[in-house]
Amino acid sequence: MYDQNNIFAKIIRKEIPCDKIFEDDKVLFFNDINPKANIHVLGIPKAEVISFSDFITMFSESDIKYFFQKISEIIKKFKLDKTGYRLITNEGKDANQEVPHFHVHILGGN
Ligand code: AMP
Repeated sequence: MYDQNNIFAKIIRKEIPCDKIFEDDKVLFFNDINPKANIHVLGIPKAEVISFSDFITMFSESDIKYFFQKISEIIKKFKLDKTGYRLITNEGKDANQEVPHFHVHILGGN
């Protein structure tokens, strides 16, 4: 069950701040607080969704497409399409998922 008190839920509700890059009514992108690369952005849907598996099975094709299109726009905003990047999503215990709200890490710039 989705934990409404996870840290990203609190960020969406603006109960705690984030270093925001882009926000609309469906998605939020912000800098990771503990960056593992020069550019380390986190992208989240503004919905109660724990993992990639849940996102891909429980959400509409248009919601899924919208989220990944926004990821693509963030990649272009930082010109990572020119230099390269990694997209990572951690799911579950063996992946050490820390925050139980589906998120994609965008890492670039070494
Ligand atoms: P994961 O292991 O995929 O769940 O990664 C969670 C990520 O969230 C980590 O890279 C953390 O550094 C990051 N993180 C945790 N709290 C915050 C926060 N308040 N603002 C930005 N990033 C955060």
